[in-house]
Amino acid sequence: MLAIKPNGKVVEVLASPEHKPMPEMRAELIEKLKYAQCSICGSVFKKGEGSSSNNKVMRNLYKAISEEKGYIYWLWEVNNRRKKKLAYNYIRRYICPDCVQALFRHINVIKKS
Ligand SMILES: [Zn+2]
Repeated sequence: MLAIKPNGKVVEVLASPEHKPMPEMRAELIEKLKYAQCSICGSVFKKGEGSSSNNKVMRNLYKAISEEKGYIYWLWEVNNRRKKKLAYNYIRRYICPDCVQALFRHINVIKKS
């Protein structure tokens, strides 16, 4: 627990026990803030801005590479392999712009030549 003093200084009054957020709730919070977690490096990156929640990620990998954006894709068979099935038939995943460039930039070079 933190206390904000009248002079604006923040002090810790009571330490919180260590806890780990529930993955689904964490994912929902990240999504609502228009961020996504990269499936490759695990970092959280901005996937949307303004009125759009996905204008910084592309569904087309070639466009993601050329426009230096993140990549969004869906897994369709993973849910069938899960013991606890999700309500959806698909699982959405993201790759951050850095990983898109690091892993796939050479694909665009090959496509152009
Ligand atoms: Zn990444």
